[in-house]
Amino acid sequence: MAPLRKYHAVVLGAGGVGKSALTIRFGRNEFIEQYNPTIEEEYRCDLIVDGERCILEILDTPGTEQFTALNERYLQQGAGFLLVFSLIDENSLRDIDSIRQQIFQVKGADMDIPIVVVGTKLDLNTEREVSRARIQELAKQWNLPFYETSAKRNWHVSEVFEDLVRQMRKCYPRD
Ligand code: GDP
Ligand code: MG
Repeated sequence: MAPLRKYHAVVLGAGGVGKSALTIRFGRNEFIEQYNPTIEEEYRCDLIVDGERCILEILDTPGTEQFTALNERYLQQGAGFLLVFSLIDENSLRDIDSIRQQIFQVKGADMDIPIVVVGTKLDLNTEREVSRARIQELAKQWNLPFYETSAKRNWHVSEVFEDLVRQMRKCYPRD
């Protein structure tokens, strides 16, 4: 039998958008109510995507709006990226645009890089600032998949990680 493939994913986005809540919902199926902006933690998940088992290592990072040496390390280490913004905070979209550009700067502009864009806090519908039309427009412009999720309600969380695994399989085929 072929050995299990292991993929390394990095979760990026501004502070408070819900990176840790998303990651912990997926990794441990819990919802974290309190906000701890400093958390950097790696989760190791054993999952089956399209009938094939793999290991997904997910690095949850602290807020990463600024381009720092630390960010550069994250970008170099990651094989795939989740760019996380909050559906209730329009400004958080700008932050992931900047991170997206940094990824291509570090990895190479013409590279095919596994990236999934994740809008969080879908359950806070009345506070929503980022419309579906805006998301569709950006998805087209950036040519990246977008998901609308809620870590609190566990809506569409596993889909995000499964899509990232599919993209990583495509970009890094077994030799
Ligand atoms: P991070 O800085 O990006 O890691 O943000 P956190 O994951 O710590 O989340 C920041 C705050 O938003 C916390 O109080 C979370 O409980 C809350 N939060 C995160 N995701 C959701 C969600 O899907 N729905 C709701 N209602 N709150 C959320
Ligand atoms: Mg966090």
